[in-house]
Amino acid sequence: MIVCKFGGSSVAEAKQIQKVKSIIDADPDRQIVIVSAPGKRNKDDEKVTDMLYNCNSMVQQGQSCRELFKKVANRYTNILSELGMAQKPFLPILDEVRQMIDAGHGAEYAASRGEYLCARMVAAYFGWTFLDTDPLIVIKDDGTVHEDTYTNLKKVLKKGEKYIVPGFYGCSTEGKVKTFSRGGSDITGAILSRAADADIYENWTDVSGVFSVDPRLVKDAKVIKTMTYREVRELAGVGAGVFHEEAIAPVIAAKIPINVKNTNAPMDDGTMIVGSREIDGHPLAGVSAKSGYSRLTLRKLMLFKSTGIRHALLTMLHIFG
Ligand code: ASP
Repeated sequence: MIVCKFGGSSVAEAKQIQKVKSIIDADPDRQIVIVSAPGKRNKDDEKVTDMLYNCNSMVQQGQSCRELFKKVANRYTNILSELGMAQKPFLPILDEVRQMIDAGHGAEYAASRGEYLCARMVAAYFGWTFLDTDPLIVIKDDGTVHEDTYTNLKKVLKKGEKYIVPGFYGCSTEGKVKTFSRGGSDITGAILSRAADADIYENWTDVSGVFSVDPRLVKDAKVIKTMTYREVRELAGVGAGVFHEEAIAPVIAAKIPINVKNTNAPMDDGTMIVGSREIDGHPLAGVSAKSGYSRLTLRKLMLFKSTGIRHALLTMLHIFG
């Protein structure tokens, strides 16, 4: 069974959602699909999530978000009509969301509705079950996943049933809608993969995998074929735009491989992220850089015999700032 997560650009407009549908139709093992909120259609466009944060800011300043929310609503109604679906059943849902934002339910509630509305729309288009992550995914105050999440999900997920799941949010321990950090739909995908014991977690984006160097800086940057969870963490720690640790932690625990794929080029292999790999002439996974970051390597014969060396080093670094 495969869990797939589609990012904002994969659901930004009707033609992208049609691509998602053909990817899903091509493999019956793809049974759980997590969606982000519609992202940018071009570089000057706005992300639905950003517009929703702005709606909330207006409400905080004592104004109604009615006018601004029309832009959000239009993104969905345009997609619906381009997909040949009726807008009418969706209008009361949009209106209810707008009223709740105007009633002051806060930034996290407002932002979460981008994914909520997208998942409801895609579920209707596919004819699959919409599975809300509030209250199933429980997010602690520090933004990490509460263990109850897995028992909650395991209780409701039925084998063979096909689900569309909104990314990015769940609920707090007090039962209020709570979001992960920005880009958090990746975490939702990893959580669902672990809860459903997926064989593979496919993460669909608009690039054909993880690049070994920043393609904006290096012209013939190559896609990494296979890398380990650890290499992902190392690269992310020093500035590469790959997954964050919290987004891979649930799948590392369950040893589920991640395949980063491109919605616009589904036949490309993408990058496989696994527990370990053969060093087949490619010992180096990738190169990244972060300013203000340095690594200190200390070599000394019989180093393991001397005690207190780490303490001495850290003290020295601390003293000299
Ligand atoms: N829509 C959210 C964001 O823009 C989460 C996500 O896309 O993963 O950050």
